Amino acid sequence: MSQPGTAPSRFSSIRWRIAVPYILLAALVMAGLAVYLSARVREFYLTDLQGQLAGEARVVGEALLTALAEGETGASLDQLARRYADLTEARVTLVGLDGTVLGESHEDRLQMDNHLYRVEIQDALAGGEGASTRFSRTLGYDLMYVAVPVPDVGQPAAVMRLAVPLTRIQAAIARLRTTMLAATLLATVLAGLLALWIAERAVRPVRALTAVVQRVADGDLGARMIPTTSDELGVLTNAFNRMSAQLRDKVHTLSSEQSRLSGVLEHMADGVVITDHDGLVRLLNPAAARLLDTNSEAALGRSFAQVARHHRIIEVWQACRERRQEQAVPVEIGRRGDFWQVVATPLARDEDQSCLVILQDLTQVRRLETVRRDFISNISHELRTPLASLKALVETLRDGALDEPPAARRFLEQMDGEVDALTQTVQELLELSRIESGQAPLRLGPVSVAGLVREVAQRLLPQAERAGLQLAMDIPESMAPVLADAERVEQALTNLLHNAIKFTPSGGHVTLLAREQGNEAILSVRDTGIGIAAEDLPRIFERFYKADRARSTGGTGLGLSIAKHIVQAHGGRIWAESILGQGSTFSFSLPLSTAPSR
Ligand code: ADP
Repeated sequence: MSQPGTAPSRFSSIRWRIAVPYILLAALVMAGLAVYLSARVREFYLTDLQGQLAGEARVVGEALLTALAEGETGASLDQLARRYADLTEARVTLVGLDGTVLGESHEDRLQMDNHLYRVEIQDALAGGEGASTRFSRTLGYDLMYVAVPVPDVGQPAAVMRLAVPLTRIQAAIARLRTTMLAATLLATVLAGLLALWIAERAVRPVRALTAVVQRVADGDLGARMIPTTSDELGVLTNAFNRMSAQLRDKVHTLSSEQSRLSGVLEHMADGVVITDHDGLVRLLNPAAARLLDTNSEAALGRSFAQVARHHRIIEVWQACRERRQEQAVPVEIGRRGDFWQVVATPLARDEDQSCLVILQDLTQVRRLETVRRDFISNISHELRTPLASLKALVETLRDGALDEPPAARRFLEQMDGEVDALTQTVQELLELSRIESGQAPLRLGPVSVAGLVREVAQRLLPQAERAGLQLAMDIPESMAPVLADAERVEQALTNLLHNAIKFTPSGGHVTLLAREQGNEAILSVRDTGIGIAAEDLPRIFERFYKADRARSTGGTGLGLSIAKHIVQAHGGRIWAESILGQGSTFSFSLPLSTAPSR
């Protein structure tokens, strides 16, 4: 009995409820028997004594009557009475038919009043024998009086009365009562012990079952009891075992369902909030906490309006509560152009206003949509320009230029240039889509950073010199190798260096840098060129994006995009820092080949 309050108090347990009636029954029966028996014994004693006294009275009466007939005087009758009194151990009184006392053993006869109307005398005269038991005020205790007419046969001449005190009988009855009381007590105690033993045996399996039930209640759903009997308790035990097996299965199913559900909620990208009838937040998944910039402890139990803190979201939720209908509304959040879809669904029917609110962050999707639109318009533009100039050159040739060989050659060279530009665009596009789709697997291996940078610098040095730029390298000699596909990383670095040379006016500086940082190598290309405006900076890695809106500089706008994909395929990051008019630094990270994790 582990829980306070569930244990029955000592005397309210089943054991006592079974035993107490038995004990009471035994006590009552024994007490009744004692009362009945002592009454019967007393009656028996009195009847016996009365019979004995009547017999003795007849004998003594005959003797005293004979003496009276022989003319004996009162005093000698008293004398005789005293003798018989000694013999019979009783008080002897001879009463005449008129009630006068003729002879008396114990009292002064002359002082005694008329005895004619004593109950026993009247009964003796009327029916041959009279008896009476009463308290003698003269002696101070109970006496039994028995009177008979004498002589026994024929007309009576007097009445003989014997009297004995009842103290002996009363003492015997008292002894009997004491014995009966002791027997009653003993029988009650024995009956009680027997009843307790029987009750204990009956209660033991109930107690065992209770202990098992208690374990189940405390959460041990595997607790079982082996039925030992085939009676009602056996049936109860079997039923209990079945019930707890079912309970365990149900709890198991429920908890695995719940953990599945909470797993789904936990890892969902969409935010989920459940509010109750009063509009208080009852559930909030991590995504919702992140989107609403709060946490479970702060949000649970607070009103949705306090937690959501955005009037449009609160309006959608309110509308769902009031109309009891699903609401799905796109909402623009904050100044950064974040874009959410808010879906509020009523959770229960009727009057209950519980609601399920789902917050979907569509910012990224929307951004990608914009990028895709820009991409299509850019690629059309990119292809249309060389195609239009090709068309113009072909028409010029056909309209007569073909007949002027020097002009025709110049036009053909221009056409060759346009076709090269088109081919490069298409090749870069193909390259990009190959990297993006993962069709070009990386051939990873330890690559020396200094070696790689030197290679790229050497290749582009003539170009830099032509543009009148100083090309420098700042790389620690002891740098650990990176784990990379050398050819691809060279391509990425070439793209960056190419841009730096292209966007830096003559007389500027371009520096290639490398350093270790944690378990990564950071490679950078720094220039003192035209720089990039802050609003363009976040978008320059997009395909076809050009900070130069007029697109007057050559190039496809794909170089940075290709570099970004190469770096990301290596598990690295790429970023740009720039101040317009002062220069730019493009950097990317690569994992070191000794890095423990890759
Ligand atoms: P492009 O073929 O036009 O060079 P990129 O993807 O390599 O294409 O570059 C995208 C745009 O980023 C360029 O058009 C230019 O506006 C800007 N840009 C890239 N590198 C630099 C740099 N070092 N200095 C200034 N602007 C740059």
